[in-house]
Amino acid sequence: MLSKKNDTCIFLLEDTTPAFANTLRRIMISEVPTLAVEKIDFNDNTSALFDETVAHRIGGIPLSFDPSKFNLHSECKCNGKGCPSCEVVFFIEKSGPGTVYSGDMKSSNRAVKPISGDFPIVKLLKGQSLKLEAFAHLGTGKSHAKWQASNASYMYYPELEVKKGAKNLEKVVKACPNGAVALKSRKLVLLDLFKADECKRIVDDVSDGDVTIKEDPTRFVFRVESVSGLDPKYIITQAAEILLGKAKEFKTELKNI
Ligand SMILES: [Zn+2]
Repeated sequence: MLSKKNDTCIFLLEDTTPAFANTLRRIMISEVPTLAVEKIDFNDNTSALFDETVAHRIGGIPLSFDPSKFNLHSECKCNGKGCPSCEVVFFIEKSGPGTVYSGDMKSSNRAVKPISGDFPIVKLLKGQSLKLEAFAHLGTGKSHAKWQASNASYMYYPELEVKKGAKNLEKVVKACPNGAVALKSRKLVLLDLFKADECKRIVDDVSDGDVTIKEDPTRFVFRVESVSGLDPKYIITQAAEILLGKAKEFKTELKNI
């Protein structure tokens, strides 16, 4: 783990291949289940927005929840009818003038709520009102972006390669963005991985080809930003679990041939 700040994790994945890294990335984006509003019953909507638009906006609000306490709707013991193990109901009842915010969503489950109460849903003028019941279920980004767990991306690990007898090393340090490259005991080192891209051309030009920045296709710097109510660490480990499950399933199926 290189860093973890709020909803973003940066980590190093080593001793692997681009295919494996990309598989992990795709699972982190589209196969880790999250909770989002899927169905809404409108009792009253005299706002300026159509029911569909309001529903779309509510669907996009990320919800914080404990993933160990919920089943996929289709795999629940209630056979998809809806129960506390697979469904959370939110109630909104508000009259204008004023703005309806995500904070106005009253949850049937105390442990589940929007990650912030400040998402605006719709503005109501005097005499306008909104009353609805919204049903949230688990789902994956594969079927709709509102269930996307995270933004995940990676880059190959950058490495400095210095030819023997290379000159102009100090020039390289000076030409690169501040603090990106330094000389330590006469050795050139890359201090800031995320400035490697920027440094690449500069290094080439300044050193007349004596210094280059190469990419290591067996090491990856991953950046995972949660866009759901899930912790990025959970998304990473859960993606690994899902991948393991797929591999096991594949192995079992192979035996049946
Ligand atoms: Zn259920």
